[in-house]
Amino acid sequence: MRAVIGVDVGGTTSVAGLVASDGAVLAEASAPTHHRGPGTAVETLVELIESVRGRAREEKLELLGIGLGVPAVVDPSGGRIGGEALHVPELAGRALGPWLAERFGLPTFVDNDVNALALAEWTFGAGHGVRSLVVLALGTGLGAGIVLDGQLVRGAEGFGGELGHSPVKFDGRPCWCGGRGCLAVYASGRGIAEAARARVAGRAGEALLTAAGGDPARITAPLVFRAAAHGDPTATGIVEEACLALGAMIGIVVNGLNPELLLITGGVAGALAPLEGRVLRAAEGFAFSRALARTRIRLVPGDKRLTARGGAALVLYETARAERAGCAASPGG
Ligand SMILES: [Zn+2]
Repeated sequence: MRAVIGVDVGGTTSVAGLVASDGAVLAEASAPTHHRGPGTAVETLVELIESVRGRAREEKLELLGIGLGVPAVVDPSGGRIGGEALHVPELAGRALGPWLAERFGLPTFVDNDVNALALAEWTFGAGHGVRSLVVLALGTGLGAGIVLDGQLVRGAEGFGGELGHSPVKFDGRPCWCGGRGCLAVYASGRGIAEAARARVAGRAGEALLTAAGGDPARITAPLVFRAAAHGDPTATGIVEEACLALGAMIGIVVNGLNPELLLITGGVAGALAPLEGRVLRAAEGFAFSRALARTRIRLVPGDKRLTARGGAALVLYETARAERAGCAASPGG
């Protein structure tokens, strides 16, 4: 039987999985990315890959390759990880794929973690069988991945699909990426928490502040959603803004790409799921109605089991692409 190794590299935790070609996770290993100290992520990744490779040997599985999803933009031609790798800074500028390929003697592919997640949803998940799919992952930050007509959209420099840092409001609030009005400012965990902290600063008696024990730094996105569900006006305003921003992004995705499926996932999507009707009504205000009718929109909480499958889907995608290129290059082959 054939299998692949999929790795999800996180700022806090990294996971490696031994994944069958139908997406079944046969074995998994995880560890805090920096359990050996700052700057040691690569050692952790090698340990995790070795651990699941050991399982593959025990089970006598043929390994097709290793795929890694990293929380950064990856240059599609050289595989170099961009300098935006803030959560795992030691990866910035590294061509991790070729290095691991040599270390393990297996084809190795590295891509942005949400690109890998989009491939996983397309290969094994909710997007199986569609030709075009957009995934918005609303977590602490906001990542996205686009599969269009059967191709992952990477763009010239790897920024293809960075919808989280595309503006939904051109004169909006400054974003930590250096831009302003980005979707991430309004609809990511970090953006929602920061908006709440700014609004309650110096305003004793605000319910959000009381719920955070008087310390604005302890306000989190889940706390904002809970307060909104209890009718707190400040929190309700922030959640309403998140719904509108997401509606505007749905308008961009539907009018700009009109995919068959738009999947909104991640921790914040879980909190937004009860407000799905509100988000879709907001989208109606921005998208062409016939285009919106043809794009299926699903809000689903993040599925942790998919993390290692992202890297695995990347290996299967690249292997199939290489085989197609090989067939095209050799007539009759
Ligand atoms: Zn931004």
